[in-house]
Amino acid sequence: MEIPHILAIPFAAQGHVIPLMELCQCLINQGFKVTFVNTDHNHMRVINAMSNTSHIENQIRLVSIPDGMEPWEDRNDLGKLCEATQKIMRVNLEELITKINESESEKITCVIADESFGWALEVAEKLNIKRAAFWPAAAALLALGFSIPKLIHDAVINNNGVPMNNQKIQLAPKMPTMKTEHLVWACIGDATTQGIVFETMSRNNQYVKLADWILCNSANDLEPAAFAFAPEILPIGPMLASTRLGISSGSFWAEDLTCLEWLDLQPPSSVIYVAFGSFTVFDKTQFHELALGLEISKRPFLWVVREDIGDGRSHSYPDGFLESIGSRGRIVSWAPQQKVLGHGSIACFLTHCGWNSTLEGVSNGVPFLCWPYFADQFMNESYICDVWKVGLGFNRDESGIIKQGEIKAKVDQLLGDEEFKTRAFNLKELTMNNVMAGGHSDIIFKNFMEWINSQD
Ligand code: UDP
Repeated sequence: MEIPHILAIPFAAQGHVIPLMELCQCLINQGFKVTFVNTDHNHMRVINAMSNTSHIENQIRLVSIPDGMEPWEDRNDLGKLCEATQKIMRVNLEELITKINESESEKITCVIADESFGWALEVAEKLNIKRAAFWPAAAALLALGFSIPKLIHDAVINNNGVPMNNQKIQLAPKMPTMKTEHLVWACIGDATTQGIVFETMSRNNQYVKLADWILCNSANDLEPAAFAFAPEILPIGPMLASTRLGISSGSFWAEDLTCLEWLDLQPPSSVIYVAFGSFTVFDKTQFHELALGLEISKRPFLWVVREDIGDGRSHSYPDGFLESIGSRGRIVSWAPQQKVLGHGSIACFLTHCGWNSTLEGVSNGVPFLCWPYFADQFMNESYICDVWKVGLGFNRDESGIIKQGEIKAKVDQLLGDEEFKTRAFNLKELTMNNVMAGGHSDIIFKNFMEWINSQD
């Protein structure tokens, strides 16, 4: 029998590339052949960042297609990215698959497409190829997307997704609550971007019906209410290749591994790990308050400061900050985050609450300090603080700033209360049981692989 050949295509953002690559790594380990399609732009970034880890390149075949944007255009502009990719990549993907399929032994058996690139499912259907959608965020978020027609019907939002008034909503008991101003499409970029994201999500609700499977990087025990609310969404996570398979893959930036040696020198459960994912930017005032908050907390910290974190300009630290922290603080431009969170010296994770970061913290039993910015981060904060109770959020002052005193107070509160640590440990155990042999996610993943192998 031919080895099944899977073509996987992630949405063109860091938080989508990493988990899909992890899923592909799991498939490779089970003997499948995988072709992974990035945009040209992201492909180059992954290749450059991974130049030392040829192991993965050898296994997953990395290819790329143009994303329809000019080289100088801002790929952090989600509205533009959605529009360009939707128009151009569909044609490019169809051409790519048709070309691959010219070789009988290479024929694609199954397409796994990021739900956010729903059009890729239509391409697969047109070419008569089996297809699955992959959702790299919380099931509750996809359930929210599926609920758009009902939210319009109930006058929570208008036909363009704009909230009709400020209220808190909850799709079902035990699901996260969120303010309507924090609905994912309503707190992302400017009004144009918000409109495009809403339209894209609405359109994807139709495309996803073409998928035979909707696979979600989450676990039933993490989100039982969401999976009961939308049973068509199937959990197969947390994937977390670095934790489970000892490798990490798909980073757009080279990981600074030296911080692991620095962590080795720190006492157990002492370090605040501070990281805000791949998108978040800071203005100077907030950046300085964070720096000073870490300084007055007087604990060791590892802080990821991306080169592009500075709100369109290069970032600067408060006067005397770097001298004052000395070797107590370590700053890197990109960390091997999964390994960091698995390190025994970590006490807590100060995070923007991206879903991957959330899963990575949960899977390592690390309590959280939540600093959400946009998109689904508020919903994830609600999971962390209200549903799982493994973290604390910050209060902002009248001008929207999180002040240094607030940062110190929350660090002290979180680390002074052993209950957070205990609950985080219990949540880790509960979550990781899902991916153990015979666990809920493991069974679904095995069924999925059987389906790929089957003739129907
Ligand atoms: N990440 C990393 N090193 C860093 C910061 C982040 O490897 O220094 C990874 C992190 O482990 C996660 C991803 O980047 O897998 C960020 O995804 P997330 O969903 O948390 O946030 P996003 O970047 O999408 O906002």
